[in-house]
Amino acid sequence: MGLFLGIDFGTSGARAIAIDDNETLRTEISLPFTDTGADRWKEILFALLESLPRSLRLEIEAIAIDGTSSTVLLCDASGNSIEEPIFYNDTRGNAVLDRIREIAPADHPVISSTSSLAKLFWYADRPSFPRAAYFLHQADWLAFLLHGKPGISDYHNALKLGYDVENLCYPDFLQNLPFFTLLPQVLAPGTVIGTVTAEIALRFGLNADCRVCTGTTDSIAAFLASGARSVGDAVTSLGSTLVIKLLSDTRVDSAKYGIYSHRLGDLWLTGGASNTGGAVLRQFFSDGDLARYSLEIDPDRESTLDYYPLLRPGDRFPINDPLLAPRLEPRPDDDIEFLHGLLESIARIEALGYQRLRELGASPLQRVYTAGGGAKNPAWGKIRERRLGVPVLLSKQTEAAYGSALLARESI
Ligand code: ADP
Repeated sequence: MGLFLGIDFGTSGARAIAIDDNETLRTEISLPFTDTGADRWKEILFALLESLPRSLRLEIEAIAIDGTSSTVLLCDASGNSIEEPIFYNDTRGNAVLDRIREIAPADHPVISSTSSLAKLFWYADRPSFPRAAYFLHQADWLAFLLHGKPGISDYHNALKLGYDVENLCYPDFLQNLPFFTLLPQVLAPGTVIGTVTAEIALRFGLNADCRVCTGTTDSIAAFLASGARSVGDAVTSLGSTLVIKLLSDTRVDSAKYGIYSHRLGDLWLTGGASNTGGAVLRQFFSDGDLARYSLEIDPDRESTLDYYPLLRPGDRFPINDPLLAPRLEPRPDDDIEFLHGLLESIARIEALGYQRLRELGASPLQRVYTAGGGAKNPAWGKIRERRLGVPVLLSKQTEAAYGSALLARESI
């Protein structure tokens, strides 16, 4: 039976998951990385392939890769990186934002210091820029290392570059750029680009017919892994931060709340990200204490402690206020009470998030899958179910690499 390989490059590690035609996970390998950069990504990608059992490598029919959204590189005509990559959360694009404001429509997602377009404009001022031939996202470049054709992306990664996912083209304001030719050709996620190069097939013992597909972003890959498929299905990611995503019939965009919609087949994947989340929990509790103390919480009882847990002031969604103060007082003497208040309050913010999406026109919420470190907390699941009023389920799979493997399996 053929296998399908998904590879995920997240913020602190990379993972490969192979599934079979029944979507059963057959093997999983992860490698952490602390230092990062194009050379390191390449080493990690190759190390992942080398770590797969040899017998299994020959069975791989298709590969798809996801990367962190808006992590980008500038490459020469051979596809070699000629500048340090700029990471998803790097705000140096702030310096060029006025130039983007001049050309982009008001409230366009590219008008953000972390947008891929802002990063391209930043590169445009570098002495190396005349040598540039391709501007790529992390996932595009890693896939290129396998299939050998630089300059191809997918419309999930390309959203923050300004690609028009409604009309499936680059808008005029991008087409008129003097460096428009650097922008990648954009295909649907999971489109076959070609087979692995002969060199890659030989080096890693892959089948010469093994296909490489366009990828996606790490968060969409995680969404795909969850099992969410129908309108009203949502995934809440309770990691360091709180991220919600909802499959909707309608497209929802709101610059104010940092909301934009990704295209997912005939549907729209909409959502928002709050700065609240597990990072604040970790300030007060070890993961072990979180698990232990949570067992003592009665999830059916509402905690009246009303916090807005943040590491530093400011949130965008569901409350748009750059100065919003963290609210973590009063702190009860009892740690279990305190934790209950924190979990209840984050659940309140999550529910407000879904309410906000609905107000902005998204389809009604039907059920919520959960991913991230907080997903393994059953008490929190019950608290959230009480607040959300719809079933809260564990994601079928939570690893983005699994979602990319599904993408590879469904590739066309
Ligand atoms: P990241 O977004 O960094 O990838 P993870 O998905 O790995 O985060 O989740 C890590 C977060 O999960 C930590 O911030 C931690 O506080 C939280 N966490 C870990 N265990 C639990 C638990 N049992 N209950 C609630 N939160 C937890």
